Amino acid sequence: MFEHERQELVDTLRKKGIKDDLVLNAINSIERHLFIPNVIGHHAYKDTALPIGYGQTISQPYTVAIMTQYLKASKNEKVLEIGTGSGYQAAILNHMGIKVYSIERNFEIYSRTQKLFDKMNLRVVLRCADGTLGWEEYAPFKGIIVTAGSPVIPENLKTQLAVGGKLVIPVGGRSSQVMKILTKISKDKYEIDEISNFTFVPLVGKQGWKEGQ
Ligand code: SAH
Repeated sequence: MFEHERQELVDTLRKKGIKDDLVLNAINSIERHLFIPNVIGHHAYKDTALPIGYGQTISQPYTVAIMTQYLKASKNEKVLEIGTGSGYQAAILNHMGIKVYSIERNFEIYSRTQKLFDKMNLRVVLRCADGTLGWEEYAPFKGIIVTAGSPVIPENLKTQLAVGGKLVIPVGGRSSQVMKILTKISKDKYEIDEISNFTFVPLVGKQGWKEGQ
């Protein structure tokens, strides 16, 4: 279903500068309409963010693509995602052969996505918790991708990143953020790149925004 629309979305992303064939291939394969409410299914292959309930959104495909491209993770490497949401970003990484660990703080969203992954037979390890604290048990990670906007870079996430690994995180105010790409050079040294102008829902937690802030 929607093969033609998916191909058009891939062409659009290519025109917008996405070059990584593994990323484009994953976007061509994963059925985004399965990750959003049925009633808006026909919007699935537009390059826009869409509502998934509880005031949260599934990210714009371009955003998913550029973050995945910057993450530069390879097959069999461990990646931690903060903000599972619909599960679409996790499914893209999983399709690329990456071992995905993903944390969602909202219990209803977490349960719904866990059910979807069970039904789709996707092997992604999910947890319902505050992702700003990371996931010590499985650290270090080759990559960490944060899909909610944070006021700061949470310290635990830096600690749980492997040397040589990348942390991709939108940082800024509540209504707009810049995407920071940190490469861990050594135990406490990072190289930082930035790309601007993204709008994510807030990362709420001990090392993020306070509830209701
Ligand atoms: N990656 C998702 C994007 C979901 S939107 C997708 O592909 O659909 C961001 C999600 O982050 C929301 O579901 C929100 O509940 C969650 N979130 C916000 N703060 C969080 C935190 N501290 N830990 C884990 N999840 C968090």
